[in-house]
Amino acid sequence: MRPAWATIDLQALAHNLRVLRQHAGSAKLLAILKANAYGHGLSRIATELQAADAIGVARLGEALALRSSGVEQPIVLLEGFFESSELPILVANDLQPVIHARYQLEQLEQAKLNQPLKVWLKVDTGMHRLGVEPDQAIQFYQRLQECVNVQGKPILMSHFASADTPEAVQNQRQRTVFAALAKHLKTEVSLSNSAVLLGDVVDHDDWVRPGLALYGVSPLTDRSTQSLGLRPVMKLQASVISVRDIAAGECIGYGGAWRSTRATRIAILAIGYGDGYPRTACNATPVLINGRRYPIVGNVTMDMLSVELGVDSDVQVGDTGQLWGPDLPVELIAQHLGTIPYELLCNVARRVALDYSDSDA
Ligand SMILES: *Cc1c(COP(=O)(O)O)cnc(C)c1O
Repeated sequence: MRPAWATIDLQALAHNLRVLRQHAGSAKLLAILKANAYGHGLSRIATELQAADAIGVARLGEALALRSSGVEQPIVLLEGFFESSELPILVANDLQPVIHARYQLEQLEQAKLNQPLKVWLKVDTGMHRLGVEPDQAIQFYQRLQECVNVQGKPILMSHFASADTPEAVQNQRQRTVFAALAKHLKTEVSLSNSAVLLGDVVDHDDWVRPGLALYGVSPLTDRSTQSLGLRPVMKLQASVISVRDIAAGECIGYGGAWRSTRATRIAILAIGYGDGYPRTACNATPVLINGRRYPIVGNVTMDMLSVELGVDSDVQVGDTGQLWGPDLPVELIAQHLGTIPYELLCNVARRVALDYSDSDA
């Protein structure tokens, strides 16, 4: 019996990549692997994605980990560099920073580098997180193009604030601002994350940037993974390590957070918030055991959680519970918890073993 583990279905990953390629048409694909490849294990996922044209991460440390595990594709740093001392490291490791702010432009202009860097220019078309103001984008672009430390033309990019709801007016506003710049600058462009790529509006990207969909999770609030032709990659599991009968009126766990209204049976699974399964999952979040869904009762604790089996269940010690995966969508669990699948996947703790499998087993 094992405590908590996650199986990572590499065939599903390869399948999702093919599906996304079809949506991308002739656009190149920048596979997004930030936050430990959304919890799926950075280096191994990168190794399996050699068919992607480039890999995107948020932090320098992630990019260096990829280089030391032998990844040779271009790597894009989605937040660029944080200070000028990083620039020689970017050159040495062939990393492409996203330039999103004036301090980066100035540091790049002042640096003395052995070789120029390929760079991306991020413009803020309405999300108001990172990116240069649209009315400064042309000036930024020209300065980058003239900078000796920049190789070739910067790639123009932007990020949508409401990609998961394609009908949002905000998206159209962002598209309009972006299109005007793209037309003027005549360089490669990139807008689409997973939701935009799989949504109905076709953007004319040279580069698409899917993250979530690669892992077989639907980025669109009103579409299931299945209906998009994707296959979930992660299956989070834990063993049943105790089964007990309790009388009506008994409480479960810390603080007696849940009280039985009938004589019933309880199973304890060896997974808790120490594994990244959220403590906020209580009272009715489903867990799948032997093909049936059972509700969590009481508080999720550090290493364990309890589910109510009822009296007619055949669940035994040693059985395996699925917390999310192909038969219990992580989208559904996220809905129960008032969060998004991204957060659940990224929070899977390092102590949860990742088992890579080449089959559906
Ligand atoms: C995370 C990220 C993506 C990928 O988004 P998904 O919704 O996971 O597809 C794309 N572009 C940028 C700039 C990002 O930060």
